Amino acid sequence: MSILIVSGFDPSGGAGFISDVRLAQTLGQRAVGAISALTVQDTRGVRQVQPVPAEVLREQLVTLLSDVEVGAAKLGMLGDEAAAEAIADALALTRAPVVWDPVISPSQGSAPLYLGDPGKAAQLLSPHVAVATPNVREAEALCGHRMQIADAEGMERAAREIAQQYGFAVLVTGGHLDGDEVVDVLATGNELLRFAAPRLPGASDVHGTGCALSTAIACELAGGADLSSACERAASALRDRLREPVRAGRGASSVM
Ligand code: PLP
Repeated sequence: MSILIVSGFDPSGGAGFISDVRLAQTLGQRAVGAISALTVQDTRGVRQVQPVPAEVLREQLVTLLSDVEVGAAKLGMLGDEAAAEAIADALALTRAPVVWDPVISPSQGSAPLYLGDPGKAAQLLSPHVAVATPNVREAEALCGHRMQIADAEGMERAAREIAQQYGFAVLVTGGHLDGDEVVDVLATGNELLRFAAPRLPGASDVHGTGCALSTAIACELAGGADLSSACERAASALRDRLREPVRAGRGASSVM
């Protein structure tokens, strides 16, 4: 079976569609998919964002999913609300588990990667999403900026709130917080789990980590893993790659 990737296009290949497809292939999955938005960026940051016409995206995905069966899906950068709506409509054609990385801003550069209210995107996608994978800043945005997250307890509160509000599981990733350990928190309907691992030096400056984690979780789910094992195994695969990041240009290194 194939895995569906819907994400933005980073010409430098450090994040987005190119890196998602490359990682899925490395993890033994055959990728199919569509590009939600084009970006102008290099390894030093994002300069411009151009969502693709939503009707083209909808037609691409409806055509694809009417023909090809997928074992899981990964959604990354959406671009804008029209794209979120088109993707949500097309996802009605599959029952495969969907992993959503709710990308809002790049770690480098000032161009927003989602133009609109991320809460509305969450609402549109909620009937289809199995798990969302926000980092702490994205989790704050999905909570409507009603809380600031500074530690694992804050991550747990946010994960629970988002899971209750939208009805999907939530993995809040803690790589952007300080500390010797990186803690990720998974909230499902009735459970709260913490995953902790030693912080790898320099890893917080690597581009495309969120893209890679969500793609790896989708690959694990496609392979039949349950959600908590999928999150744990994906994080471990990502740590392996973060030990040897790729430096393709003069800016940030990337996962793949
Ligand atoms: N560009 C594209 C197309 C992306 O999908 C993403 C992240 O998902 C980024 C840039 C930003 O990546 P990062 O914040 O890891 O630098």
